[in-house]
Amino acid sequence: MAYHLRGFAARLRWHCHFMQKLESEPDIEWRNVARSYDGLREDAFDRTRFQAWCSGATGFPMVDACMRSLNATGWLNFRMRAMLVSFAAYHLWLHWREPGLHLARQFLDFEPGIHWSQMQMQSGTTGINTFRIYSPSRQQADHDPRGEFIRRWVPEYGTSAYPSPIVDERAAALDAKARLYAIRRTSGARAEVAVVQQRHGSRKSGLPQSKRRKAVSKDRQPKQGSLFGDEGAF
Ligand SMILES: Cc1cc2nc3c(=O)[nH]c(=O)nc-3n(C[C@H](O)[C@H](O)[C@H](O)COP(=O)(O)OP(=O)(O)OC[C@H]3O[C@@H](n4cnc5c(N)ncnc54)[C@H](O)[C@@H]3O)c2cc1C
Repeated sequence: MAYHLRGFAARLRWHCHFMQKLESEPDIEWRNVARSYDGLREDAFDRTRFQAWCSGATGFPMVDACMRSLNATGWLNFRMRAMLVSFAAYHLWLHWREPGLHLARQFLDFEPGIHWSQMQMQSGTTGINTFRIYSPSRQQADHDPRGEFIRRWVPEYGTSAYPSPIVDERAAALDAKARLYAIRRTSGARAEVAVVQQRHGSRKSGLPQSKRRKAVSKDRQPKQGSLFGDEGAF
């Protein structure tokens, strides 16, 4: 099967895998998949930060350009969706529920089964996924090095009309990581990993990794990942 079709088929499997998670546990639309993370952010919800995030006025040009583009078009690729949620959850320390509702209202392809699991994966509350903290400045350098996308959606960027960053990017990320790992190290969170993995963990294709890699590399096309490309699920 050609490389692109193989990738598309894989995404359709993720599509079903994610929808099955919500089917088997509808509550994950409202509450954390891993309960060890309950109370982590719920009482610290900063509405000013949330509104700046929703309207694309955080002072982080890549975040603001992606949000304004999404609010105007209803679509964004996987990596930029993940970056928006990571920024809300880790840098702005916002619980995933309200940001999830805002994005759900914008997405033309809103699919609750995929959406709520992805919201929790990118916010670090599943207990089994890596904490992936995206750096907005790194994403800007990698995916919009000449600033074309940013200037299109944030015309006031670089002028006094553009807000300063609402948080210190590095300090906020380090603080978030410290708080999440403090929970991940607890015996309760460790015990919960097996339970969540059993209930929601992905069941791989059964092919040993070396075989899977060989099959993919045989047909590999030039690397994707530009602003309009796509990324695999984590
Ligand atoms: C925070 C967050 C929220 C998301 N919310 C949604 C949502 O509400 N609806 C939605 O369809 N996708 C959602 N996704 C997954 C993914 O970003 C989109 O499916 C993809 O970007 C859509 O691009 P496309 O139409 O070009 O699909 P393609 O890349 O062509 O993929 C085809 C189909 O495969 C499925 N698919 C693709 N990527 C994924 C993935 N990572 N996980 C699960 N299924 C996938 C979708 O059904 C998609 O329509 C979300 C991702 C994140 C990080």
